[in-house]
Amino acid sequence: MASAWAKLRGHQEQRALFARSISHGRLSHAYVLAGPDGIGKRVFARLLAQSIFCRECPAGQIDACGECRACRSFEANTWPDYIEVGLPEGKTEIPIAAIAGAADKRGREGLCFELSMAPQASSRRVAIINDAHRMNADGANALLKTLEEPPASALILLICDSADSLLPTIRSRCQNVRFFPLTESDVAQILVDQQLIDKPEDAKAVAAMSEGSVTLAQQLLNSDLRKLRDVVGREFALFEAMKPLDVSKLIADELDRISSGTEEQRQNAQWLFRFLAEALNLKLRKLMAGDFSEPLLQRYGVRSGADLLAALLDRILVAAQQVESNSPVRLVLDALFDELARMMRLGPVSAR
Ligand SMILES: [Zn+2]
Repeated sequence: MASAWAKLRGHQEQRALFARSISHGRLSHAYVLAGPDGIGKRVFARLLAQSIFCRECPAGQIDACGECRACRSFEANTWPDYIEVGLPEGKTEIPIAAIAGAADKRGREGLCFELSMAPQASSRRVAIINDAHRMNADGANALLKTLEEPPASALILLICDSADSLLPTIRSRCQNVRFFPLTESDVAQILVDQQLIDKPEDAKAVAAMSEGSVTLAQQLLNSDLRKLRDVVGREFALFEAMKPLDVSKLIADELDRISSGTEEQRQNAQWLFRFLAEALNLKLRKLMAGDFSEPLLQRYGVRSGADLLAALLDRILVAAQQVESNSPVRLVLDALFDELARMMRLGPVSAR
């Protein structure tokens, strides 16, 4: 039979894991599918759901034909036993209404209520919660009740970046399945398949910076981000002579220019940190290859030069965490470039 799973790249171990559980009749009621953004966790979760509904899937297996009535209805988002919730466009929180129903219908609609009903057309009801870490406390508590006493036919798939981002009470009631970044060649292939890039060599270059994530690769196709990357590359070519406050201002102004609000500014700042790390990693590769065009090699030698670069990379990670925890971007950048320049001035001694 044809398989809807053909569209999935990577994650074959995870598929085998679910196949084993199903064939042994040991499928749990709730799973956390955890891993970085943009690697296909939702595609996987939907295929798993579809396999449970597919009329042609042999018993004890995990597959979906993509052609039967159930598959076609599922793919058209009209299958009655499937529920999917996530962040509404532009929101940072999954509304409680999606989980437990609107205020005037609390407990009489929403994901938990629907899971409590018997399946209409299949053996199970399957619910996917995207960005599950974005449930607020009320939503999480409502879900917790369902997880504590799951209806016999319910399968709940919580998708998030890391199981640690969920409440421990929720986490402990789910099986955790980890997902890993895609290979560069898978990302490149997806970019070409989805016609996001025409030339395979361009797809390869973007994939190399994507950290195995199609989402990151797509963002990188944005011309503003490419410009930011060029600015970083240019400034870092003169890294040793960097005037920290000038560079910080230049880059912060560029971030402001390409961001329409603080949320976007934060996201773009994370890109900036990736580009900075990329520029330092390029230096590191030259250093390790004994390339004398790299000034650090002449000045410090391979070992000490590498120590210094590792310390600089660590400092960039600190800045990324500060922005992640909502510190003002300009302040973080001022401190970062000031510190990077100081470390460069002191040399490898600053790495100890
Ligand atoms: Zn089917």
